[in-house]
Amino acid sequence: MATEVTTKEYRLLIGGQFVPAASGETFPTYNPATNEVIAHVPKAGREDVNRAVAAARKAFDEGPWGKMTPMERAKRMRRVAEILRERLEEIARLETLNCGKIIIESRADVAASANCFDYYANLTGHMWGETIPMNGPLFDYTVREPYGVCGQIIPWNFPLLMAAWKVAPALAAGNTIVLKPASATPLTALVLGEICQEADIPDGVVNILTGPGVEVGAAIAEHPDVDKIAFTGETETGREILRLSAGTIKKVSLELGGKSPNIVFPDADLEEAVNGSLFAIFTNAGQRCTARTRLFLHESIHDQFLSDFIAKAGKIRVGDPLEDATQMGPVISKRQCERVLSFIERARSEGANLALGGKRPDDEVLQKGNFIEPTIFTQVQNDMTIAQQEVFGPVLSVIPFRDESEVVEMANNTIYGLAATIWTNDLKRAHRLASRIRAGNISINFPTVNPPEAPFGGFKQSGIGRELSRHALDLYTQVKNVVVNLADERFDWYGKWPVGQK
Ligand code: NAP
Repeated sequence: MATEVTTKEYRLLIGGQFVPAASGETFPTYNPATNEVIAHVPKAGREDVNRAVAAARKAFDEGPWGKMTPMERAKRMRRVAEILRERLEEIARLETLNCGKIIIESRADVAASANCFDYYANLTGHMWGETIPMNGPLFDYTVREPYGVCGQIIPWNFPLLMAAWKVAPALAAGNTIVLKPASATPLTALVLGEICQEADIPDGVVNILTGPGVEVGAAIAEHPDVDKIAFTGETETGREILRLSAGTIKKVSLELGGKSPNIVFPDADLEEAVNGSLFAIFTNAGQRCTARTRLFLHESIHDQFLSDFIAKAGKIRVGDPLEDATQMGPVISKRQCERVLSFIERARSEGANLALGGKRPDDEVLQKGNFIEPTIFTQVQNDMTIAQQEVFGPVLSVIPFRDESEVVEMANNTIYGLAATIWTNDLKRAHRLASRIRAGNISINFPTVNPPEAPFGGFKQSGIGRELSRHALDLYTQVKNVVVNLADERFDWYGKWPVGQK
């Protein structure tokens, strides 16, 4: 296993300066493939949050960002995209080193992050309002204005991409930002901060703080000078964000967990469905919010499909994520590894049948890292813990179904509603199910994809609001209504009062 340590000194980004934490403290960050420390980053605290929010406030209220033309903002955002592409290989390696995803996925994430900046650069001039017909001489229009200071808190499963999804639309809309990456994966967000400075985004517009969520994240969510919070992470943390931000009635958007169904009908292209279903659960070692963790198989194809699926899953090459040949890396941390293994134990004790994996790989080389074999449970009941709770690891539950109504009921029977996949060549059935399944993102005959053009977000307890697409501009702007009096006649309410009532 390659051992790499970054020698770079990482700093917080506050008001355009790269600075240590006010306390001078740092914390280690690890390589999940070896559990070796790869860098130390500043451990920000409340004082740093206050400094960063003050810098963002000043940049919003007084700085050049809000006064720039949309074209000028777009030029700087395109430069961010350009630098990301120029440094793609280096940043992808850093991402893999810090979060353990395979290098091919990290490259795709860096490319997607660059695309996200380009996409929103193209939308800087698209914050259109409305003109609203009124009776009489009044003329009414709306404008969309940025909120001001946006606090953004992100998870560890797509460290750079989640930062891009948050930062790019907020910048396009003219906001300023205080971003907090997950403590497990702080490095590429800090690099993004450097790139924003290099791209001439003015000082104080993008501020980046690394530090514990319970302190730094909470301080951002509570801060009276933060106007909006955008959070991605666990549903439980999302609840806490809502509580923390309630005191100042912040605008809140949440992208939370999922337990997404993947439904295969007998009329589907079954080979493609097998391949797509593998992708939908095992990419990023199952650590994606949209992972299709419940595979619903029609009873008529159940056994044949499973035998092909398990054979292919068993061949997924687990190993060093920096190697091009590796197909699945480790999970993020020792803690997460133990958590996933305990879910596996629980599934067995509740009566699910372990059909593949279920343990750490035997390979000597992998013992130091947080590796888990691709794991498949069959004979799962939809009410078992493994089918209801978010595992966030390479673990799949397979559930048979008899007909459409039964599968829709089971698919919807969860607190989540993030995504779903339907494999069928029956056009009517595909659209019928797309409408009956309560989830924000449905894919038909495709595993899962989130291009910047398409809105993304959850029904039920999977979130509030839609990221990506034009919808994200709504997340980062508020509507102001303006009414204009065009009448020649002077307004005089009291002067016209009926006689006797004055
Ligand atoms: P998490 O534990 O909820 O953490 C997310 C972020 O919140 C981290 O930066 C964390 O900081 C911070 N945080 C933790 N406690 C906080 C608090 N009390 N106040 C404010 N901030 C706090 O989630 P995760 O384990 O990093 O990520 C996995 C989860 O993200 C999964 O549930 C997954 O489904 C979800 N996710 C959802 C989407 C989506 O778009 N729907 C996308 C990706 C991931 P620390 O790291 O310092 O604790």
